[in-house]
Formats: sequence, structure tokens, C-alpha cells
Amino acid sequence: MTTTDPLAEPLRRVVGDKTAKEFAKGLGLHTVGDLLYHFPRRYAERGNLTDFASLKEGDEVTVLARVSHVEVRSMRQKKGTILDVVVTDNTGSLTLTFFNQAWRAKELVKDVKGLFAGTVSTYNGKRQLTHPQYQLLGDGDVDGLGSGDERHLRLVKDDDGARDDTVDVATESIAIESFVGELIPIYPATAKLMTWRISKAVDIALARVPDLLDPIPEQLRVERGLDDIGTALRLVHRPESEADVSRALERFRYQEALILQTVLARRRAAFRGLTSVPRLARDDGLLAGFDEQLPFTLTDGQLQVAAAIAEDMARSYPMHRLLQGEVGAGKTVVALRAMLTVVDSGGQAALLAPTEVLAQQHARSIRAMLGPMAEAGMLGGSSEGTQVALLTGSLSTAQRRRALLEIASGDAGIVVGTHALIQETVDFFDLGLVVVDEQHRFGVEQRDALRAKGRQPPHVLVMTATPIPRTVAMTVFGDLEISTLAELPSGRQAIATHVVPTHERPNYVARTWERVREEVAAGHQVYIVCPRIDGDDAEPSVDDSETSGPEAAEGNAAPESVLDVAKRLSEGPLAGLAIEVLHGRLPIDQKDAVMRRFADGAVDVLVATTVIEVGVDVAAATLMVVMDADRFGVSQLHQLRGRVGRGSSGGLCLLMTRAEAGSPARERLDAVAATTDGFELSRLDLEQRREGDVLGTSQSGSRSGLQILRVVRDEAIIDQARTDATHLVEHDPDLDSEPALMEQVWLALADDRSQFMEKT
Ligand code: ADP
Ligand code: MG
Repeated sequence: MTTTDPLAEPLRRVVGDKTAKEFAKGLGLHTVGDLLYHFPRRYAERGNLTDFASLKEGDEVTVLARVSHVEVRSMRQKKGTILDVVVTDNTGSLTLTFFNQAWRAKELVKDVKGLFAGTVSTYNGKRQLTHPQYQLLGDGDVDGLGSGDERHLRLVKDDDGARDDTVDVATESIAIESFVGELIPIYPATAKLMTWRISKAVDIALARVPDLLDPIPEQLRVERGLDDIGTALRLVHRPESEADVSRALERFRYQEALILQTVLARRRAAFRGLTSVPRLARDDGLLAGFDEQLPFTLTDGQLQVAAAIAEDMARSYPMHRLLQGEVGAGKTVVALRAMLTVVDSGGQAALLAPTEVLAQQHARSIRAMLGPMAEAGMLGGSSEGTQVALLTGSLSTAQRRRALLEIASGDAGIVVGTHALIQETVDFFDLGLVVVDEQHRFGVEQRDALRAKGRQPPHVLVMTATPIPRTVAMTVFGDLEISTLAELPSGRQAIATHVVPTHERPNYVARTWERVREEVAAGHQVYIVCPRIDGDDAEPSVDDSETSGPEAAEGNAAPESVLDVAKRLSEGPLAGLAIEVLHGRLPIDQKDAVMRRFADGAVDVLVATTVIEVGVDVAAATLMVVMDADRFGVSQLHQLRGRVGRGSSGGLCLLMTRAEAGSPARERLDAVAATTDGFELSRLDLEQRREGDVLGTSQSGSRSGLQILRVVRDEAIIDQARTDATHLVEHDPDLDSEPALMEQVWLALADDRSQFMEKT
């Protein structure tokens, strides 16, 4: 990093030590660059007063208002004065109260406008701003405001006047440039660092910052018709019109996208610099044998992805590919074929699963699919075959020792496991491919740890069933090549989904339980999913899953729980059926035993939490009932219902809810019922949730990361930036000719914000 970078200059040189400390503490801003990238949250229009109706009690607000009434009273009990200043938005009013500060009446005169900051409270039925700070606007139409300098603003000291040591820069009566125009920037502020203090610091910074090196390469900037960095910074902080703001933000969105995509493009390039063993398929190997005995034909989508993977793995640098596709799209089959390719070339493949249940299930189904080919060295096994080892945390010492030996000797060509696989004691003979199931549950460090177990970096295939809009995938998993399995294998039945409003239609509830009985009578099985484990667990029951749904519309009503529901149903409408429970608090071996009984058909009804969300595959399960469905997120519900209709009999999903018709919660459920397109639903999810949550970042404070970019809205920009970044990095891997961009790339990497890339 160059020290001559004006953006890297410590803030204290601009605003003084004391204020700099406040900026660091209150807003996390340390450098001139941090400050200049601290964009206004919104802009108040001089002509438009803030609508008070939107203010809620307890909110910390900054409002633009006009003084409508001023009154000085004497205190009743003791000596002193009370100054009541009523400000208005032209319809409502707020009262500002000052004790023993009657002198303020000189400047807080009727009709003067200003920004008033404080906490909204109610006193005697009247709304107040307590401990207000204010900054008056020198409007031409106000007389009382001092001669000649009516555009200059006076800054008021802290309430008690005595604490003005907290205000250094701001106490001087300097004009704030930003208050001159029609649009007044309102910055994300704190109680001490009012927006106008930030504004003033920005003024100074803007004036002091000389020509900046532009992180966007000149040619791209011109091609895309974007403002240069200096102009854009000025426009975003000191706009004269909305159009100025849009222009500037357009540039910064692109800048943000370009920086992020450059980070990712460099990561991809670094991957290409690694050397891996090419893994080529053989005509007479396990893969050929597997294909021969496959009871179905691969879909075109599967064939395409398989070809891409084969091509990747034939290269001498590691594959790094994301395979996304709906639950049941046939990803596992594709992954298994890749694993067999590696085994055929003499290497080993590891499949990393997020939970014990899933690892066991994968091992079971892979063994079943391979048949005798998975029984090398065993009686009746194929001599050409291999072995499938399972390594999880719950193995006995003897089992574990045997698994480790099979892995180290290479006898196990396929190794399935949980994060236990990552442990140091696990040695592979020749790890050639790592398949990560349900990518979002693994961190990059974990992938890296596993990757380090290869003699040379293994190929990596990441699978996710959470459909992600392409831009999100590009942003979050941008360093992976992306394949999508869009179509479901034919013969798979669509899942019908209906909303059951339990309050409005009690007879539907009774009908639901009847339906459960009918399914069971027809030899099928049923899942009943609840948001909690028991009545009083404070934690939501999202044991293995990291996301919980939005709060239910019903608010106070206790959410349905696994234990309550299981008890209620087995004593009532489902009496006589084989009902069992599954949740994250059960010991691992018990969980597996329950799952196994369910898979074997010994259990009719499984009452569970979202432990069953991912990957669990029981073909005879045809009905899912989700209790308090509004407590789950849209994507989560979509994942959940993917558990039914895995076989050929189709599936039905009933979403029980106490949410009122017309409420947002009900609308979400209706959306889930209306489409089975996971991509559409995840878009909806993204639009409804704050994207920061999706990406695991918070939205404020820092100058890199996703500050103003919105992955859904800014799809085209991200797309463009990805192409541009790839191009840049191809021609100039270390960005020698673009130091300003490189600098931002370093910052993005250093910034804890970039952790969202590491964590996902
Ligand atoms: P995913 O891992 O994407 O959820 P799987 O690979 O587990 O999907 O496939 C789901 C089910 O569909 C499995 O039972 C699998 O055997 C079956 N399947 C996969 N591909 C096909 C295909 N091309 N035609 C028919 N059935 C398929
Ligand atoms: Mg799967």
C-alpha cells in the first residue's frame, strides 16, 4: 500500500485528534477514505420538511423541521427557565425542551428551519425530542438569522454547554457547504456525531483531497460512461439534484462490483496457477460399469454438467466448480460419476457432508448404487471395485481406526464424512477430488484444510441445493465456475403445495390429519415439521441449519413444537400410527437410528425440526405438513418440501399457519404454494430479506464490500463487472497498471467485510 495515497491519510489530520477518536469509536471510520466512502443515508430537501407521522417512539432521528412556536417559562419549584420550542412538519409537531437555556430563544425563532436530532419520546401526550441537538439552516426567507451570513450555520453546543469538549471541529462557526444547496445530506450518525458534524468533516476532507487515482481504469470508465472518482465523491456528498446522486451511485455501484469481481477473478487465476493431477476417465473402469447398470438415462443437463466436470478434471490445474440444482435434480449422481472417474485414475474422492445423518445417508446410497463395485476385497465383490469408507465423529475407536486405515492405504476409493474428515489425523493415500455437499454450511477454511490433504491440490466440486440467483452466486461464490441443473429428471412428480389457515378453516386441519392417515394406509410416509423442539426452548430449533424464518405474524402465540405436536397427534388424530421424533437435541446415534427406521418404512410419521431440511432422501415419503409455516423462510420451505415426492408417487406439502389472510406472512406462503421454481423463490426471499443477511454482512460503516450494491437489483452491473474484471486480471494479473484498483482490492481483502466471501 502506498503511503502517498490521500485516502489512507488518518482522519486526525483532517478533523483533529479528539474528533478523529469519535469517528473511530462511533462510526468505525479511521481514514480520509473511510470518511469519503461514508455516504449519506438519504438527502433532506430544503423545501420538504420531514413527515413526522413516520417517526416512532424511541427512534433516534434527524428531522428537517420549522420552528412554529417558542415559549420561555419559569420553573415552578426552583429558580430557572424552561424553553419550549415547538417544531412542525406543517401538519404535526414535536416539542423540544431546554432547561436554563433561554438564550437559545434568540436563534430558535419562529419560522427558522433546521435539522433537529434526538430520540423521539412522549411526554404528557405530546411528542418530544429529548436532548435535541440542532443545526439551523440559513434560509433566505428567515429574517432573524444574522446579517450577511445567512447561509452560514451556527452550530449549537452540547445541551449543557459545559461538555463542549466533545465537539471540536464542529463548534467553530464555519459554513457547511452541504447546507447551502437544495439537498442536505443526512449521514448515518450517532448521538454525538450528528449528521452536520459529519458533513463538516466531509467538507474539509473533500477540499483537502487532491486528484485521486481512480480505482476504475480510465478506459472502462469512459466506455461505461461513468464519472471519475473525484467528481463522483463530490456529487454523492454535495449533490445539487437527485440526478447527481444517481450518477454518482451508478459509478460507485460499478466500482464496488469491479473491486469484488477483481478479488474473485484473482482468486480464480491463482487456482489456475496450482498444479493438480489430471484425472481421466477410462473406458473399462468403474465409471463405465456404473453407467451400464444405471437404471435410468442421464438428463441432457446431467450430461452437460458431467462433460464440463470431465473437462475440468482432465486439466493440470484444479477444478473449482459449483454445481447447483434443485433438490432431486440429480446432482449426487453427477458427483458420484466424477468420484468414480478419479477412482478409475487411481486416486481417491472425498464427499464432505454437513451433518452426520447426511454423511451416513450418502455412504449408504453410494454403496447401494455401486453394488458389488463397492465391495472390493470382499467376498462376492468386484475385483475391479473399490471401497466406500465412512468417517464421522460418532464412530467407535475400532471403526474409526479401520476407516483411517482404508483411507490411508487407498483401499477406500470413496470416502464419505462430516467435518471429521478435516481432522489432522486423517491421511489420504491420494486425494484427487473433494465434493462438498451443501456448500453454504462449509467455510472456505474447511474446504482449504481438506484440500491440503491432497499430494497436489485436488479438484473441488461444490454442490448446493439452495437455488441462488446467478448474480448472487457470482458474488458470493464468484471464484467458482458455476453449473446449474435446471430440469428435474423425468418421472419425478411435481410437489403440490397448499396453505392451510388453521384459524380460518378448522375443518381443513381435521382434513389434514385424515389425509395423513390415508397416505400411511397407502403405504406412504409423512413428515411433520415444527419450528421448535419443545414448548420452552428459547432457541429456535434450527439445529443443523443456520437460518430461522422470519418472526411469525402471530407474534405471541407459542410456536408449535416437535414434542407437543408428536404427543398431541399420537394421543389424538393420529393415534395408532407409528410416530417418532427427530431433532437436533437427540444424540447422534439416536438420530441416525430414527432416520434409518424411517427410511426402512418402520416409522409412519416423523415429527421433526429442520434437521430434515437437507438432502434426506426417503422415496416413500409423500406428504409433508409444516406447522406454523410462516415461521420459516421462503427458501427454507422450498428446501423442506423437496423432501417429499422423491419417489414416483408425487408429493403434497401442506403449510399450516395462524397468520391472517392478507398479512405479509400469508403472502409469502401463498408465493411458496404458487410456484415450485426455486430460483424465483430465492429471488423473492432476497428481495424481502435484507441482502446483507443473505451475504452475512452488515450494511454500514466500511468502505469496501457490499455497501451500495444490491445483488438482485444490480444484476447487470455485476455481470458487466465480472467480465471486465476477468479481462483485466487475464492481461495484468497483479494489476500493475492499475494501482488504485489494486489498492482497493487489498483493502477489500484486509477488511473484515471480505469475510463474507470466506465464510460462505
Ligand atoms: P440431488 O442430489 O440433486 O438432490 P439426486 O442425485 O439425489 O438429486 O437424485 C434424486 C433422485 O433422482 C435419486 O433417487 C436419483 O437416483 C434419481 N435420479 C437422478 N438422476 C436421474 C435421471 N436422470 N433419471 C431418473 N432419475 C434420476
Ligand atoms: Mg442430494
